[in-house]
Amino acid sequence: MTFRIGAHVSISGGVEKAIERQEDETGNCGQIFAGSPRTWSVSEYSDEEGEKFQEAMKEADQKPYVIHSTYLVNLATPKDDLFEKSLNCLQSELDAASKLGVKYVVFHPGAHTGSGRENGLDRIAEGIDKLDIPENVTLLLENTAGKGTTLGKSMGDLREMMERSETDNGNIGVCLDTCHAHAAGYDLKSEEGFKDFLQEVEEDLGIDKVKVLHLNDSKDEIGSEKDNHEDIGYGNIGEEGFSNIVNSKELEDKPMVLETPSDNRASYKENIEKLRELRK
Ligand SMILES: [Zn+2]
Ligand SMILES: [Zn+2]
Repeated sequence: MTFRIGAHVSISGGVEKAIERQEDETGNCGQIFAGSPRTWSVSEYSDEEGEKFQEAMKEADQKPYVIHSTYLVNLATPKDDLFEKSLNCLQSELDAASKLGVKYVVFHPGAHTGSGRENGLDRIAEGIDKLDIPENVTLLLENTAGKGTTLGKSMGDLREMMERSETDNGNIGVCLDTCHAHAAGYDLKSEEGFKDFLQEVEEDLGIDKVKVLHLNDSKDEIGSEKDNHEDIGYGNIGEEGFSNIVNSKELEDKPMVLETPSDNRASYKENIEKLRELRK
């Protein structure tokens, strides 16, 4: 089985530029934003752009790709206008993914901002059910670091969102971020802790619901609820933790995408190289 590992790359200058950048980093799968991640704007792609991107992916043998939703999306919000905007944005991203042949759209489920956990979970499920998920795309809920009223900190949270939704689960899955899991209190570093984590994933979600992994080390201590990514091996998950992950039988078929800091000590290429070396 091909080990699929890549990075979140920029689409500036045109979406097909992402493939070249990925090639430079030696990745063979990857992630992009469909627009600008701190605004509501999502690019619309023509059929021609879609075909070109798919051709380039194929030629470079990079698959799958993931679109990361903008950070503004919040389906757990009690505010109707924010909820509507979030839905419109996610819908545009799903449509962009379909056109580009991007298999997954991943989003952070959101924060209830005071309306309570139950209401927040219901709202997320309601939002999922309002989306029209194209046949060739799967929508992924990402686990979160859990700060404040953010939902999705535990595997149980993610399960509840999916359970409350009436959307066929074949269209819905999960993206697990290692930095967020560590921040939420999961021990990925020790063999014992990692085994327990996998067991919780299996019991609450089923390993097959996990479609993509975000591989990021963490600047903070376990359970900090802080979302500060670090280069692989330089943080508190450390090489031990990532060795557990890349050598795990349960996770061997999951595409792994890096979102490590770009202004830091290691390039994507070096992070990818380290992970390939850790793989025995
Ligand atoms: Zn992530
Ligand atoms: Zn993060």
